[in-house]
Amino acid sequence: MKTVLRCGRLITGVHDEVLENAEITIVDGKISSVRAGSPEAGKAGAGADVDVHDFSSFTVMPGIIDGHDHLGLDMGDEAAQAREHLCYTAIKGVKNAEQLLRSGITTLRVAGERDFLDKIWRGAIDEGLMLGPRLIICGQPICRTGGHGWYLGIEADGVDAVRKAVRTQIKAGVDQVKFIITGGMSTVGSNPLASEYTREEIVAAIEEAHRANRRITGHAHGGDGLEWAVEAGLDSIEHGMLLTEDELKMIAEKGSFLVVNTGVTKAAVKTPGIPYSDRLKGIAENYVENLRIARKYNVKLAIGGDTYHGHVADELSTFIEAGFSSLEAIRIATVNGAELCGLSDVTGSIEAGKLADIIVIDGNPLDNVEDMRNVVAVMKEGQMVRN
Ligand SMILES: [Zn+2]
Repeated sequence: MKTVLRCGRLITGVHDEVLENAEITIVDGKISSVRAGSPEAGKAGAGADVDVHDFSSFTVMPGIIDGHDHLGLDMGDEAAQAREHLCYTAIKGVKNAEQLLRSGITTLRVAGERDFLDKIWRGAIDEGLMLGPRLIICGQPICRTGGHGWYLGIEADGVDAVRKAVRTQIKAGVDQVKFIITGGMSTVGSNPLASEYTREEIVAAIEEAHRANRRITGHAHGGDGLEWAVEAGLDSIEHGMLLTEDELKMIAEKGSFLVVNTGVTKAAVKTPGIPYSDRLKGIAENYVENLRIARKYNVKLAIGGDTYHGHVADELSTFIEAGFSSLEAIRIATVNGAELCGLSDVTGSIEAGKLADIIVIDGNPLDNVEDMRNVVAVMKEGQMVRN
């Protein structure tokens, strides 16, 4: 089966300029060709076995890659949600997965869930039982006893226990390992700048994940724990809400990814009843400053909704505020996300040979990122979902 998308404006993720009146041809879920404004464009629709979609008055771009969200957690009291009946959390995840896909997210890295629910959702999406993005899963976050996220994670203390926890996660089938390095904003009494683990435990976790050829990502806001982890080769840092300029420089030099969650920091302070909203006051503003510095040092960045599901415009607008161009912001949410997930060969941009992960926007997000709210159609691996 061949599908043709006629695009008014095409952002490929690889070209620096927008392609006008382009045409994408898709065969068996993969992009077979991209042609820009050629006299041939528009003619490829001929033939009975070709499914033609006319998006000539819209912007077409790569599907968004969210580097950090949780299907079983909504913005709010996370410890309380972790006590819900597992079936209830599973159903919530089904709803959130569909919402994320419809908002334009075609790949999601799930950054920690209870009881390997993410493995169940990954399988159910692949089997077509539910709608959702392609999932890269991290299983249960590894945390110290009583540390940040203990209600959700697997508790492990001491070098041997940490090694065993990493092995347990890999045995269960995770794509990446999630490790809670510093305290967190959403756990009562937790200090986001204090390391929850010793240097030896941190080094052991990273070594153990890499020995099994898995990437390891660390929840860390800054301070000693973060620095030990980056030094030891941590692949990515989650949040980094309180980083210093020296730490950002170090992250850039070591080539770790920084996954930022700017949407939730803006939303949580404005939403009544969020238990940690006081702790997030000023964080959104701090993010703008730190993103400015991150841009200066060329830190590899990705976005993550982190319980504020699928509000891509809210993530991208912070990058614009920090001085990124709209194309740079879009690349962070697509090309960079693919690299973070280890999927650069298959998704993140619109070019021949990649999976057809494509979204259609009413408007032009290069002129105004707010247009990212107007997603009219989403294609994941060649399957079309219209809003
Ligand atoms: Zn999270």
